[in-house]
Amino acid sequence: MKPKSSEQYISEIKNLKSKKNAIILAHYYQTGDIQDIADFVGDSLALSQKAASNSADIILFAGVKFMAETAKILAPEKKILLPDLLAGCSLADSCKPGDFKKFLEENPGRTVISYVNTTAEIKAMSDIICTSSNAVQIVESLPPDEKIIFAPDRNLGNYVLNKTGRDMVIWNGTCHVHEEFSLEAIIKLKNANPDAKIIVHPECELPVRLVADFIGSTSALLNFTRKDDGNCYIVATEVGIIHQMKKENPGKTYIPAPPVDSTCGCSECSFMKLITIEKIFNCLSTEKPEIVLDIDIIRKARLPIIRMMEISEKLGL
Ligand code: SF4
Repeated sequence: MKPKSSEQYISEIKNLKSKKNAIILAHYYQTGDIQDIADFVGDSLALSQKAASNSADIILFAGVKFMAETAKILAPEKKILLPDLLAGCSLADSCKPGDFKKFLEENPGRTVISYVNTTAEIKAMSDIICTSSNAVQIVESLPPDEKIIFAPDRNLGNYVLNKTGRDMVIWNGTCHVHEEFSLEAIIKLKNANPDAKIIVHPECELPVRLVADFIGSTSALLNFTRKDDGNCYIVATEVGIIHQMKKENPGKTYIPAPPVDSTCGCSECSFMKLITIEKIFNCLSTEKPEIVLDIDIIRKARLPIIRMMEISEKLGL
């Protein structure tokens, strides 16, 4: 059979969506073509909120597995599809349920705050979930003397610790994209573009955070470039976000921060980039692979996510 063109895939995906009452939720780290066919594009918090409040029968998640699992936990009655089950996350993988259980036993009596970038099993062991958009506010919403475990990202954890001064024990996990940015290369870029503002995701290592003009979640970085009166930005997060930045403000310049190894393409998340237009078409056609979770895990993992959403709603996030 003759391979389809990108335009053919896109047109057939549109037909399948309306025939099956399906929607596509895409993360900002997806490629531009996927962001453009999605019904909704956002960061982890916005995507969770969207998954919990829509009338579709099928949600196809253009993102990674923990995001699709979060959608299943929030909308267990819906069919949740992920076009490639190998689309995992190095950060979620750094926190295995057996090791985490031991860590909790070694640090008893603490409120467990887990980043949304965790497996359903880790969420089921947590008290509150957070995203990089609300981590500081979630921690601050607890009484000042509350002892906290924060997992799994050590850089985001240390950023939150610095901001809040709370008593926190932090799991030692990292994201393979955000830990790779090169301070030296960023400084060289800044010297070559003195007017550029350095904008940084809190999952980046401390030396990179220290040279930032602005630190924020993916959506906060987008919002910053939207409102800021500057014209040039060195962007230290996954490069996919630059698609939205350019769409919203095409007159500005966005320079991706380079990784330590300039040959590795590490500022792209290899897991996110496993999703393609062709895989989305095949997945919508066959309604496979589907995310299936144990009902007991869904029940336990739902409570800390709902708690996050309630706190976020109360704070207007
Ligand atoms: S960018 Fe990092 S944290 Fe996000 S999905 Fe990829 S590996 Fe996980």
